[in-house]
Amino acid sequence: MSRTKVIPIPVMGRHTVNAYLLLGRRPVIVDAGTPGSGRRIHDQVAAHGVDPADVSLIVVTHGHIDHFGAAAELHRLTGAPVAGHVADLGPFRAGRAREPYLPTGPMGRLMARHRNLHLKVEPFEPEVLVTGETDLEDFGVTARIMPTPGHTAGSISVLTGEGDLVAGDLIANSFFGLVQGRPANPPFHDDPLLNLASLRKMLALDPTRLHVGHGTPLEPDRVRRWASREHRRLSRLERTGRIRTRTEAGTA
Ligand SMILES: [Zn+2]
Repeated sequence: MSRTKVIPIPVMGRHTVNAYLLLGRRPVIVDAGTPGSGRRIHDQVAAHGVDPADVSLIVVTHGHIDHFGAAAELHRLTGAPVAGHVADLGPFRAGRAREPYLPTGPMGRLMARHRNLHLKVEPFEPEVLVTGETDLEDFGVTARIMPTPGHTAGSISVLTGEGDLVAGDLIANSFFGLVQGRPANPPFHDDPLLNLASLRKMLALDPTRLHVGHGTPLEPDRVRRWASREHRRLSRLERTGRIRTRTEAGTA
């Protein structure tokens, strides 16, 4: 076992959209940014003293284009295989997210109108198809891919041996990272209850920190308190039939 360090790679703004660099025996990239950001990610990886050709894997946390928009480009620039969950293969292969986006609140309702979310980007085919918990030791990091469905059916997180959880959009910072350190839903969830169940499952593993796609790292205790409030809020909505969930069978 060797230490695996988690380094944020800003893709848009300082914290608005993040990818991550995991440094172990070999480097692994988590998430592939917005369309056209491949070079920016590549150059930042190099600036951390990593030869991009040494990157062993690019893990894509889910099928939204701010996370896989530059996957094909980054694959070309590094030569590394891309890993993604089988349940989001549809978006990866189509180069676009499932429509419509299901807003978690006013922010999502506003953002859903933004044309950049509905772009078609270059598709990719994951060479490493994730179907369950996956050990990344063979890729040079002491870490595991953990399926955390709910935000999308194929959402995954990466948990390192030190307890850092690179969580994609399982949780975010308030207002898409503008209010730093305050846990909040990202603008959209395909299945809010399933996402909360995935989040609680990860919290039960006692992560030391949560590194998110949008915002700065979150303290687990603060996320626990948020999750309890969110549980009460969703329970109220559920009782009155006001939760919208993407109803599609499994893996389309
Ligand atoms: Zn997302």
